[in-house]
Amino acid sequence: MSESALFSTYARYPITLVKGKGSRLWDDQGKEYLDFMSGLAVTNLGHVPDTVKQALVKQLDELWHISNLFSNPNGERAARLLVDNSCADAVFFCNSGADANEAAIKLARRYHQKVRGEYRYEIITFNQSFHGRTLATLTATGQDKVKEGFLPLPEGFVHVPLHDVPALESAINDRTAAIMLELVQAEGGVIPVEADFLRAVRELCDKHGLLLIIDEVQTGMGRTGKLFAYQHYDVEPDVFTLAKGIGSGFPVGAMLAKKPYTEGFVPGSHATTFGGTPIAMSVVVATIETMLKENVAEKAAEAAQYLMGELHKHLDGIPGVAGIRGKGLLVGILCDEPAGDAIAELHKRGLLVVPAGPNVIRLLPNLLVTHEEIDEAVGLIAAVLTERAAAKQA
Ligand SMILES: *Cc1c(COP(=O)(O)O)cnc(C)c1O
Repeated sequence: MSESALFSTYARYPITLVKGKGSRLWDDQGKEYLDFMSGLAVTNLGHVPDTVKQALVKQLDELWHISNLFSNPNGERAARLLVDNSCADAVFFCNSGADANEAAIKLARRYHQKVRGEYRYEIITFNQSFHGRTLATLTATGQDKVKEGFLPLPEGFVHVPLHDVPALESAINDRTAAIMLELVQAEGGVIPVEADFLRAVRELCDKHGLLLIIDEVQTGMGRTGKLFAYQHYDVEPDVFTLAKGIGSGFPVGAMLAKKPYTEGFVPGSHATTFGGTPIAMSVVVATIETMLKENVAEKAAEAAQYLMGELHKHLDGIPGVAGIRGKGLLVGILCDEPAGDAIAELHKRGLLVVPAGPNVIRLLPNLLVTHEEIDEAVGLIAAVLTERAAAKQA
């Protein structure tokens, strides 16, 4: 094969996938894989889901793109579905998770500066968090590795340790605009946020007049067993963001806010050429309608319970397995060494999984995964981790 003309921004796996359906993928050699990564939490309904495909094909015959200077019925419909099924009052559609988080950061700043007339701009985020790769969102991210070589970074981002209320409280000042967090730190190592901590974050936001922004880019769209992860907690965000699973593989992001924070944007405040196109919105409507009609989040919660039980049954006690954690079908197997070699071996045996942080094997099956597929995956993981433990002892 000739040298790639693509930027070498990814350390790619040596697999070329060319076809997918449901939980299965096939490579260019015809080898079959069981997919427990879902394009990194994107194909939540499995690959090429029929209902979404039909909606997309229908829209392809009608209209692809207009400007956001015109309204489009699919966009109205998609926003209504999201608002009717969440705490939000309005939706801004964009193209990715980073794009959605940028919109959230801009809304928080503009709400304080233009609606409340206070020069507040600082956003507090947490160590190990991940919020995207644009300059503002990589600055918001609580991991140094994404920032190297990109100095100077934009002003106005502060990081504190997760689950440390005194540190959070002392980071708040009269420039603070918002606190932003994931409810399971996914890229950071699959670390779920404790309910008591989230309650404390909400109380601090209320006390100091800050916006609570929840980054649901990975945890949203049924991934954790509820349509949105905040619905597991007795706390509502003021703003939350979606991407990944919302388009079933079509690139879409969304920033959602409650009143009165929606007043932070007026005509001209924020815009995008491609956000909310008729095609993208046809896919979002079909994805959400399928999730609601087929109780996909409830199915994910049931599958997650089975997966967790089987993982404990087959992995507990294997030397080198330090823990299993997660929420719904966002699960991490914590290893006592870097997980890269075990992951490469699983790929060879036909199970696609990804790392999270240095030592975690992350499992992200689609939300309609069957018990048989879970049995197959857990069997392969148990075999590989057992063999690796035995080889280490020998
Ligand atoms: C993936 C991810 C992002 C970034 O999304 P992109 O679509 O890659 O820009 C932001 N936040 C979280 C929590 C993510 O998992």
